[in-house]
Amino acid sequence: MFEKILIANRGEIALRVHRACREMGIRTVAIHSEADADAMHVRLADESVCVGPPPAGKSYLNIPQIIAACEITGAQAVHPGYGFLSENARFAEIVEAHGIAFIGPTAEHIRLMGDKIAAKKAVKDAGIPVVPGSDGGITDIDEAKKLADEIGYPVLVKAASGGGGRGMKVAKDAASFREAVETASAEALAAFGDGAVYLEKYLGQPRHIEIQILADQHGNVVHLGERDCSLQRRHQKILEEAPSPALTPEARAKIGAITRDAVAAIGYRGVGTIEYLYENGEFYFIEMNTRLQVEHPVTEAITRIDLVREQIRVANGEELGFTQDDIKFNGWAIECRINAEDPATFAPSPGKVTDFHAPGGLGVRLDSALYAGYAIPPYYDSLIGKLIVHGRTREETLLRLRRALEEMVVGGIKTTTPLFLELLEEPAFVSGDYHIRWLESWLAERN
Ligand code: ADP
Repeated sequence: MFEKILIANRGEIALRVHRACREMGIRTVAIHSEADADAMHVRLADESVCVGPPPAGKSYLNIPQIIAACEITGAQAVHPGYGFLSENARFAEIVEAHGIAFIGPTAEHIRLMGDKIAAKKAVKDAGIPVVPGSDGGITDIDEAKKLADEIGYPVLVKAASGGGGRGMKVAKDAASFREAVETASAEALAAFGDGAVYLEKYLGQPRHIEIQILADQHGNVVHLGERDCSLQRRHQKILEEAPSPALTPEARAKIGAITRDAVAAIGYRGVGTIEYLYENGEFYFIEMNTRLQVEHPVTEAITRIDLVREQIRVANGEELGFTQDDIKFNGWAIECRINAEDPATFAPSPGKVTDFHAPGGLGVRLDSALYAGYAIPPYYDSLIGKLIVHGRTREETLLRLRRALEEMVVGGIKTTTPLFLELLEEPAFVSGDYHIRWLESWLAERN
């Protein structure tokens, strides 16, 4: 097993990786920017290396400095966490070229799934259902228009290199089609250096349901069920639950098996997530994420599998220690993303945390790098903690969530905690009957 792992990230996810390493007897190296010298991940790691000034482009994305940090400390593997360099194929390649293990899939798989047109074709060929649309990128606008007329409006124009909800345009009707293609392509070219766009049927009120996959390097693949991430604002997930309130055991087993078999056919290794939109009983692939996800703890809660530990084991060449039949789903889990933001306006609220009290008790997990006296720097994303609660039923989990939110104290800054307490009063949320556009309309009505 690796003796030392460098964690190329910050915040709660750096801590999360550190915890798995510690339990496996692996030493950890933290990297940090000048703004993060006092951060919890730096305090807890065995060693730390400053890799640059505060802006992420100069520190957490600084590949030469991170490689140098590996070499100085003798780290044998790199865990990229999520965000930053986690889905950067070049980084994975450079790490491996230095004889260091990348705890993630191969660079080829990262690259394939990063190109949404190529990804869609690859998964479709492997048996995964996709959103009806153009076969590949739009080359001829008149032909694309004919296809859009056939699919029926509204249609969605999406960028091949898009991400984070950017590079997407809805064409409401035939008259606005050309303009939608042109603006989406121009925006994608400006933002991602690639103007390629493709066409998809626009789904009105789907749920976002994703399947967690785990694969070793010996061809063994399991699925760990689904997460429902339909509570979104501006395409950003706010709260996730597992299982989904919308799926029957039969639907779960069916989409899980299709996803697992497709991932096996592609020859993928490590953890990965296939994201679907789900409407009227049908699944439609939207993308594959080739990394650990923010919301992985809800899956850990219902499967009792430590996903980071498994990631490290399979990166080291070990076989999965279990088969699909060994995986049993226990109870219900919900995660709230607590952000340092105004709960009404969502304006960022960095600054000094004067008081901090973490909720606890049965079925409560808080993944956070906060401590009293910590100053949240303004340079990075506003996620300051993930509250994950687990219960035997969804009802029990909702009651537990409320009491855990009420226990939590974060003084000195604003957080989104009150938003979740408000949501717990909403019949649509409490009954589990919501879709990807529900939160935004609820927020609009509330204001
Ligand atoms: P990104 O990589 O930018 O996150 P995705 O393909 O994952 O792009 O889509 C982001 C979000 O956009 C989805 O969660 C969903 O809300 C919406 N979306 C994507 N494809 C469609 C579609 N065909 N119809 C309706 N909404 C869609």
